[in-house]
Formats: sequence, structure tokens, C-alpha cells
Amino acid sequence: MDNGVKTTPSNFIRDIIEEDIRSNKNGGQVVTRFPPEPNGYLHIGHAKSICLNFGLARQYGGRCHLRMDDTNPEKETVEYTDSIINDVRWLGFDWGEHLYYASDYFEQIYQWGVLLIGKGVAYVCDMSPDEVSATRGTPTAPGTESPGRKRSVEENLYLFSRMRAGEYPDGSRTLRARIDMSSPNMHLRDPVLYRIKRAEHHRTGNAWCIYPMYDFAHGQSDYIEGITHSICTLEFEVHRPLYDWFLDKIAEAGRVRPRQIEFARLNLSYTVMSKRKLLELVESGSVRGWDDPRMPTISGLRRRGYTPEAIRDFADRIGVAKADNMVDVALLEHCLREDLNRRAPRVMAVLNPLKVVIENYPEGATEELEAINNPEDESMGKRKVPFARVVYIEKDDFREDPPPKYFRLAPGREARLKFAYYITCTGVVKDDKGEIVEIRCVYDPTTRGGWSNDGRKVKGTLHWISAEDAIEAEVRLYDHLFTVPEPENTKDGTDYRTFINPDSLKVLTRCLVESSVKGAKPGSRFQFERLGYFCVDPDSRRGAPVFNRTVMLRDTWAKIEKSAR
Ligand code: ATP
Ligand code: MG
Repeated sequence: MDNGVKTTPSNFIRDIIEEDIRSNKNGGQVVTRFPPEPNGYLHIGHAKSICLNFGLARQYGGRCHLRMDDTNPEKETVEYTDSIINDVRWLGFDWGEHLYYASDYFEQIYQWGVLLIGKGVAYVCDMSPDEVSATRGTPTAPGTESPGRKRSVEENLYLFSRMRAGEYPDGSRTLRARIDMSSPNMHLRDPVLYRIKRAEHHRTGNAWCIYPMYDFAHGQSDYIEGITHSICTLEFEVHRPLYDWFLDKIAEAGRVRPRQIEFARLNLSYTVMSKRKLLELVESGSVRGWDDPRMPTISGLRRRGYTPEAIRDFADRIGVAKADNMVDVALLEHCLREDLNRRAPRVMAVLNPLKVVIENYPEGATEELEAINNPEDESMGKRKVPFARVVYIEKDDFREDPPPKYFRLAPGREARLKFAYYITCTGVVKDDKGEIVEIRCVYDPTTRGGWSNDGRKVKGTLHWISAEDAIEAEVRLYDHLFTVPEPENTKDGTDYRTFINPDSLKVLTRCLVESSVKGAKPGSRFQFERLGYFCVDPDSRRGAPVFNRTVMLRDTWAKIEKSAR
């Protein structure tokens, strides 16, 4: 189909890479990296970056490194590092032998500090962090030069080596680049390269008491690894002149020189995406942990029942752009539904059970009926579900006084039990408080399988479960973690925590599930007929399964797309 309209959205990063390959820049190689800071768990925004970086490497026959950007020891831990490695692998990407740590480059980065001093473009400054920021000026007014700027190369080399040796207190001195205190770009106003901080590092221990700043570590790490395309989010666009300034000073002829390219970060409706805020949610107990199924973290999504395929599909569909935007979480859910629809076996479960006694079904009798495991995939076959005199249906599927357009069961009405029979309600049994505790029905034996051969139609089809086939389960229903689409971005600057949804978790304890799910491993996913997709939670104990509702069946995104057409 060639009507002159591009079907895949143009991707400016691919355009750049293809141009570089055409001009044989870097010998036509493509080397990318995903560089998380191990100070939290990865989230769906990171997944976008992971899919992009690993995807480009795969597409152009290059490679993608996984690099821990661990230059900030106070907030980084081994737990976070391990979770990152696990999550990237789970998403389906492989870095081969290319797992790196910026902390492994500390010596080389230090030597580059020495090199810059030798070139007269870095100096030791005696100001405190507060003084450094107070003298930086404003976007419209130039900053003030530090007295350290006038130091000789020798004195700077001496002081820098003393900083490393631990002779000065924390925060008392820094190494700064000597660039331009009146640059319109604040990042070029003699940025700090090194700070003194006695903090034990999770990998280098106490070997260092000075640590490089992000800007003096990131591009340098890219350079060491031979990264060709250093892809990052838009907020680093203003750092790019500095990224290039450092490379101008350190890069040697004949070596790959990385190029920084920025793209818009993912924002997703009804959630927050900053690691600091996600940590606050965990620490304040607003959620049960980093892997709470309501969290936008990869581990939360996994526990919720997301598949790596659905997340990768989502990343493909949102594409990459140069302008910030907000993506509807309904699109993410849509990608998940499409994937689970193809692969999740169907079972019957009743979340709010209502007892049904089928009066004309013989006591003690039972029979096996055939149920289809997945109408989307015949190869998944059929299973037998037992039918008997006592079955359970959903409370919601019965009304004593049905409103107009209610097509399910009501006194005197006939409805279909899926894969089973037509039943007609003949009466209700109530307790002394007037609550319905049981309904009485009769079934039509000629409708076995759920179809009548006299052409009689029923409008309602109900899921059900027979008493002897039912096992009890806990089911956790989730809603958005926030009550508004953009909790981080309100006109009056209201704190995002104001919008935490108090009803984001609802626990149902006495649900009934088909016994065929018994023993399903945590992470197993099912479609509960008519209810949605559910996934076995690791909290399941033997005989007492716990399910998370992954996503409901109703697809709001498909509706949006349809009305757009
Ligand atoms: P913070 O939330 O503390 O600002 P961060 O999310 O930027 O941190 P990093 O560990 O530095 O965390 O991110 C690793 C990589 O993931 C970076 O290249 C970053 O640009 C990218 N990234 C982070 N958030 C998003 C997002 N929402 N969308 C796309 N990419 C992202
Ligand atoms: Mg960051």
C-alpha cells in the first residue's frame, strides 16, 4: 500500500542514525546504552527508554550496554541495582557482556580532572555549595567569578590530590570547570565537576571521598564505552553544550565520539513517574512496596500481570518525539488486553457469590460440560467443568426488581449459564434481615451446552461455578493510584499526594474460582469469564490463592480509537 502516507510515525532518532551510517561515521557502528541510576526501581518511563535503546541497537546490528550510573553513593543500593538488572532482562533485552558501572571509571574520570587542570580549564574552588549557587547569577544576570579561578595549575593539582586524599572536610571545596560565568547557559557557569563527600559507595566502599557530578561522569562513561548515540530525555538538552565541551577536552583522534540526542520522556495519566515521588509513596505506606500492583514500576506491572510483550508493544506505539506529552494509561491497558486476549486461558470465577439451587436437577448428580479455553486460539483446547444442583453466580447477575434493560436473571426470567443450560428463576430465599441468600431455579435439560434447539433466545449469559468445583480465593481489585489524570501538574500547584485515590485497592476475600486453577504459579494469568484478566499473586499460599485483577475487559481505548475514526 503506497499512498504516499507514511504508516509508521517518523522517528527523528532513526533518521539521525541512518544518516550516520550512510556517512560511515564511527565506521557505521551503532552502540547505545541504558544508563539508570540505581536509586530506585525502574518504571514504565524507563521501559520506553530501554525499548528505544535496545531496539535501535537490534535494528541496526549494533549493541546496547546496561550501565549503572552510580556516582551518587548516598541514594544508591545493591537492591536497586539487582532489581534493575532483573527488570531489563524480564523486558526481554540482553546486554551480553556489556554490563557496566560508572563507578568502575572513577580512576579514569579523576585523571580527566587532572587533565583539565593541566589544560588550565579546571580549578579548585574554596566556596561552600551555598556560595557556589549564590554566585552563579541568574539567567539574566552574570555570575561572579570564584577566587579559585586565579590559582596556578600546580596549586590546583596539589589541592585536587589533597581533596582525593581526604584532607578537607565534606563540602569545603570542589573542582570546577573554568568556562564562562556570564554564559546564557547556566550549566556553563563554571560547573562543579567533583565534590567532597564521605559516603560509603555500594561498590567502591570507602576508596573515594570525592565523587564526580553527573555531568562529569555521564559523557565520559559514554566515551569510555564507545557509545555512538547517547540517547536521553529532553531535560538534558541544556546540558548538551557541556557534554560536548568535556568531549572537546578529553576525546582523542580516531576514537568514537558519542553524540547526545534528546527525546521527550513518557508521561502517563493517573500516575506519577519520578523516582523521588515513587519512593515517597513506598515510604509513606501509600502502597505496599515498589512492586505494589498499582505502581507504574516494572516490578509493579509484572506483579499486576503485565507481560513484557504488552509493554514493548506499548513502547512501539507511543514512538519517540521531541515534545513533551501525556499518554493515556488506557493505551497501555489496551496493549495488555490485546496480548492477554491471545494467550490467557479462560476460567470461571465468581467474585460475589450468590447460591443457586436448581430444583429439578437430581440431588447428588453431577455431569461434566465442555468449556472452551480460549476462543481466540483453538490449539488451547477445551476443559471439563462439573455441573450440579448447586451452583454460584455473581450477585450482580440477579435482581429481584430488574430495572429496564436488565437482561440477566430475575424472578420468572430465563438466562443462559455459559457452556451449561438455560435456567429460569422460580423464587428467592431470604434471611431474617430480608437479604437474599439463595435463589431457586429450574433448568431446561434440552439446552445442554447453553443452546436451545427450538430457536428460543435468551439475552443474558452468566458465568457460574458449581459448588463442588469451587475453591475459595482472595481477589484484589485495583483502580488508578490517583484520582486525577495529571496529579503532578495542577494549575494551582497542589501537592500530588492530595490526589492519592483512597479506593485504589479493594480486597474481596470469599471469591470462588474454578478448581482447574489450583496450583497455578504466581504470575500465571487467566481471563475470568466476563470479569477481566487476573493474575496469581505471590502472596498465594497453598490452597488459598490470591489473584490480582490485571485489567478489566472493557476497552476504553478501543472506544476512543473508534470514535476518532
Ligand atoms: P529521576 O526521576 O530521579 O529524575 P530518572 O527517572 O531520570 O530519575 P535515571 O535512572 O537517571 O532516572 O534514568 C535512566 C534513563 O531513563 C535515562 O536515560 C532517562 O532519560 C530515562 N528515563 C527516565 N524517565 C523516563 C521517562 N519518563 N520516559 C523516558 N525515559 C525516561
Ligand atoms: Mg536521571
